[in-house]
Amino acid sequence: MISLQEAQTIVLAHCQPLLPVELALDDANGCLTAVAIFADGDVPPFANSSMDGFAVRAADTAKAPLELKVVGSIAAGEPATGKVGKGQAIRIMTGAPMPNGADAVVMLEDTSVAPGGGDDAVLIKTSVETGTAVRPAGGDLKNGEMVFPAGTELTPAHLGVLASIGMTEVPVYPRPTVGVLSTGRELVDGDTQLEPGQIHDSNRHALLALVRQYGLTAIDLGLVGDDEAAVTEAVKAAVGTCDVILTSGGVSVGDHDHVKGVLEKLGAGTGRSLQVAIRPAKPLAFGVVSGKPVFGLPGNPVSALVSFELFVFPGLRQIMGHEFVHRKPVRAIADEALTRTADGRLHLMRVVAGYRDDGRFHVRSAGPQGSHQLKAMAEANALAMIPDGDGVEAGADVDVLLLSYR
Ligand code: AMP
Ligand code: MG
Repeated sequence: MISLQEAQTIVLAHCQPLLPVELALDDANGCLTAVAIFADGDVPPFANSSMDGFAVRAADTAKAPLELKVVGSIAAGEPATGKVGKGQAIRIMTGAPMPNGADAVVMLEDTSVAPGGGDDAVLIKTSVETGTAVRPAGGDLKNGEMVFPAGTELTPAHLGVLASIGMTEVPVYPRPTVGVLSTGRELVDGDTQLEPGQIHDSNRHALLALVRQYGLTAIDLGLVGDDEAAVTEAVKAAVGTCDVILTSGGVSVGDHDHVKGVLEKLGAGTGRSLQVAIRPAKPLAFGVVSGKPVFGLPGNPVSALVSFELFVFPGLRQIMGHEFVHRKPVRAIADEALTRTADGRLHLMRVVAGYRDDGRFHVRSAGPQGSHQLKAMAEANALAMIPDGDGVEAGADVDVLLLSYR
């Protein structure tokens, strides 16, 4: 057996970022920039008002309350016309360009109709300083400034920034297309009546959903039986259409476990059949076939999903250009004893983690911990990392990998 870290290192050595592409902004959420992005203009492009109100010369308002003559009006989207002279004001809306002569805005709430009435005068009730309620040109981004370095993960707000500098496409590392194949002659799909010895294929549906949950394109490669030739053909076909392939089943030591042999063969020098000192998910096959990483995940449903979290998730992150690919464990409090037996392996216990008023995450078991007991995996939102030994006592600290937090 090798350690979890050793196994992750072996896998990650073969998960290189895909070649950068230009993606339309609206398709780039979650991708990482392949180059540094620079602003080729100021944002905002012109000084403008942050309030609805009156553009004024700040010095004119020093002795407020006082009346100013209104000499015009500017809406957002209009060019600034007119000029604010001494004793004058121009009505201005949020986002409208500052007119010449004005250096501040008095917000509407600090004004009222001048005693004489009419539109051509305004009563300024409070004084303002130069720059009040004015957003200067370049106040967010300056022309020529580096907006984001290469390797920035684009979030919705990042995409808003890129749109604000007029970009419509952005050079990024593309999202890999991930194919998912199930292997095992006992598997059937959908609501087919089960014959004796058959079970429903659950791994493929869970893995496809995991891939999509991370924003990647998932391709359903279907089911193949425990047949070396069929597995070989399926993997060979998959590398033609997918960047990464996930299979499940057929990687342990049974008579009909062909996936590991196929990956060793097709993966030439890279094909490996690993025994990782973890529970669940001890067996893992891996190989690079025609340049595409192929993960042979274990068949037990919990093992397949845990293996995805520990090996595929960091692999996919690295392929997407991330530098930090592993989930960081969070130190939590075990609200109940999390017991195990010593077996030389790290146990990844399915737990429910919740954030409490004491500012800590607290965990409890999500249910039975067998690698076939998928329901407890569904109810878990974290994996507690229980080191070799007899477990963790109630009240003790335990490191957990948060899978989702809701
Ligand atoms: P294997 O790794 O092929 O020996 O499979 C280990 C266990 O996982 C067996 O009980 C299989 O029936 C089960 N299994 C394998 N693949 C799937 C799948 N796609 N969905 C549900 N169970 C599976
Ligand atoms: Mg099998």
